[in-house]
Amino acid sequence: MRVILVVLPTPEVGRSEREAIGAARALATAFAGEVNVALVGPAAESVAERPERAGLTLEASANARTFFIAHPMLRGYAPELYVSALEQLLATVRPDVILFPGRTIALEIAPRLAYRLGAAMVTDVIGLQAEDGAVVITKPVYGGKAHAMLVASRPPVVVCVRPRAFDPIEGEIVGGDTTWVEVALDPSLERTRLLERIQEESATGTALEEAQIVVSGGRGIGGPEGFRLLEELARWLGGAVGASRAACDAGWVPASWQIGQTGKKVAPDLYLAVGISGASQHVVGISRAKCIVAINTDPHAPIFKVADLGIVEAYENIIPVLIEEVKRLRVAGKA
Ligand SMILES: Cc1cc2nc3c(=O)[nH]c(=O)nc-3n(C[C@H](O)[C@H](O)[C@H](O)COP(=O)(O)OP(=O)(O)OC[C@H]3O[C@@H](n4cnc5c(N)ncnc54)[C@H](O)[C@@H]3O)c2cc1C
Repeated sequence: MRVILVVLPTPEVGRSEREAIGAARALATAFAGEVNVALVGPAAESVAERPERAGLTLEASANARTFFIAHPMLRGYAPELYVSALEQLLATVRPDVILFPGRTIALEIAPRLAYRLGAAMVTDVIGLQAEDGAVVITKPVYGGKAHAMLVASRPPVVVCVRPRAFDPIEGEIVGGDTTWVEVALDPSLERTRLLERIQEESATGTALEEAQIVVSGGRGIGGPEGFRLLEELARWLGGAVGASRAACDAGWVPASWQIGQTGKKVAPDLYLAVGISGASQHVVGISRAKCIVAINTDPHAPIFKVADLGIVEAYENIIPVLIEEVKRLRVAGKA
């Protein structure tokens, strides 16, 4: 039987973690395999104590195993210690696929772990299929213009999945046979120490990567005041606000709002690109958006080539009208 191990190294189990388990479940079904979950660090303690708060049910009869790895030294941001803890788990558990959610800390742990295991490693994974007994891994390449299909020549293979590329599990069983794993950690492995946690700035409280609706602005917004309008619209829509690099570089909005090649990759149901020209480096970050609506004064702007709906108009004439309409529908209970 194939074993897929999902590693959850974040303090909380959010949508990205549920997506990682969803991806593993789908692959396990195709393989008739087993999904094991390793909760490492603070999540191990919180989920073990109150699984219902994470929306997960731990059920003894489930055909899976859940490993909890908690240690006082795993409470900070120390990828090296997480790698050491996982190495100790992997001395006894031998998965074919080790799957991480698309989180920053996962992207620090996964390659180090792959190196130690001598394993293949793929990031930004948007597809996992079983074909002739092999795992076929899909990831976007050439700025999202093509997809590469990869097969590891031998197990294990370490993968990091892209946020919103897989369906999340909803309040389902993680399972089954739960094991607390004792680990011994060498303090000298800790190369950096977490001094302070600073909450990422979000205009609406919705994380960009997890938002179903993203209202995004570019240089065409003209300044920080224009972004207040986008924020108001995003709030009424229950979405998040993003930006092009030009808007971030101008200092109008925080750098953490940047979407694109060197920013975040988003996959909302609706992406509203306002005053954004549609440079390839921006578009690569929205290639998984289900519907793109562009508002731009230039009818020849490249964004219209990828948009499902285009509005050639100054945003100042459109956004206030949209806000009023969404407000009206919300108040009438129709949206
Ligand atoms: C290595 C590298 C990495 C990069 N990574 C990224 C990245 O991650 N993300 C990213 O976004 N960019 C990235 N860039 C930059 C990218 O090439 C573009 O320069 C950038 O995306 C342009 O931002 P923009 O569309 O906001 O600005 P512009 O290209 O200046 O477009 C502004 C648009 O606003 C329109 N407009 C003007 N006034 C109005 C109005 N009143 N109403 C409506 N529309 C209006 C204009 O017609 C124009 O189309 C990268 C570049 C490089 C070289």
